[in-house]
Amino acid sequence: MGVFAAWVYVLSMGLASLAFAEDGVREVAPDVVERVDDLQKLPVEASPINDFIYKIEGQGAVFLINTDEGAVLVDTGFDNEQSVLQKKIIDELRTGPVRKIIVTHAHQDHSGGLRHWLEEIEGGTEFVGHQRYGYMSRHYLEPVAFLKKRFKILYPNIVVDDPAQDRSYWEMRPTREVYVGQDYAFTLGGVDFRVIAPNNTGEGEDGLLLWLPEQKILFVGDLFGTLYPMFPNLYTVRGEKYRDPLDYVDAMNLVLELSPEILVPTHFHVIRGKDYIRSSVTVMRDAVQYMWDETIRGMNEGKTVWQLMEEIQLPPELELSQGHGKVSWSVRAAWELLVGWYNYESVANLYHVPPSAVYPDLVELAGGADALADRARQHLQRGEALEALRLLDIAAVAESEAVLRTRLAALEILLREAREGLNNYSEVGFLRADLEATRAKLQEGSGDPDG
Ligand SMILES: [Zn+2]
Repeated sequence: MGVFAAWVYVLSMGLASLAFAEDGVREVAPDVVERVDDLQKLPVEASPINDFIYKIEGQGAVFLINTDEGAVLVDTGFDNEQSVLQKKIIDELRTGPVRKIIVTHAHQDHSGGLRHWLEEIEGGTEFVGHQRYGYMSRHYLEPVAFLKKRFKILYPNIVVDDPAQDRSYWEMRPTREVYVGQDYAFTLGGVDFRVIAPNNTGEGEDGLLLWLPEQKILFVGDLFGTLYPMFPNLYTVRGEKYRDPLDYVDAMNLVLELSPEILVPTHFHVIRGKDYIRSSVTVMRDAVQYMWDETIRGMNEGKTVWQLMEEIQLPPELELSQGHGKVSWSVRAAWELLVGWYNYESVANLYHVPPSAVYPDLVELAGGADALADRARQHLQRGEALEALRLLDIAAVAESEAVLRTRLAALEILLREAREGLNNYSEVGFLRADLEATRAKLQEGSGDPDG
């Protein structure tokens, strides 16, 4: 993306500045100004990437590749009215029939518009997906009632409550499955295409890449995640299967081998410049490798997962935005990916009685919830908001005004620190949701949360 296009984004999102150097090449340092929730503000509009490829912007973009023998689409947009508009624009811009629809993975901001192309697919248009597309779709569709309640905390404006909502994109299966290690190569209208299936990407194990070798353009879906460059979201706290750090490193090496001049992620900017791409992909690869190595080293040295979550930080030369993925959560994900949930801290964890089962005993022994709130306040005064929060979780079984007010104070500190620190979208979202729920409970009690 050139400087001009970058400024279109700046204007459309009302942001003050963008860290572009004079020549339009971004520094590798954490220079991401977007936040994940800015995606919701992106309007549907078409812009050319070159003389035969268009990006049709949206919460999930759709890409149209025109050739003399028909068109190829990459992704289908989010499952809302945006994907209807995107299809309309594609129908105006395409110079021939849509021959293939490549869905980079099953997330609903990529697969959500599939149902608008049902007629074409039934008529012979290929739906190209990773061999794991069906598997990941089942992960999203089968526990959908459970997941929706959780997603609503992070995406209050997006999650639709209608139980009859059409989710056919997770029931459809690719008519052309692409397997790991077996690229799907084809030529259409003189343009060479190569669809590549890595083992795992930054957003799941059904991620596909599309490589145009002649043009040196690589369509990456969410290979890197939502922002660029960023530390990958190897564990998304909204709830999803862990993404494998070693597979991610392999996928970065695959990109480096291809040596693209243009990277086309489905979200935010098109990335241009072979050197910039090489250096930023190298940093992303090395940052994950570093996180992995340090986790393993700490495990072998006998450290706990809690210690490692606190200790492992990226060195300055590997610093990246943690606006979506977070290093400490990835450390825990790497740990659990290796050895599962049993942490050997207490044999009680092998059974179904949770720590909270004895919280009422602790509250009684402390002499009531207010005594715990008092102690929590002392922690807060020492700058230990997390210790305060642990005590307040125990005290919550006998929720008093003092407990709620202290919780509010702890959450305000944590939220401010989160915003001023990594500004991680999920962390800020969950803290804000807890803060609002606490405030609402206080209002129910006294009618004045700030009194
Ligand atoms: Zn996405």
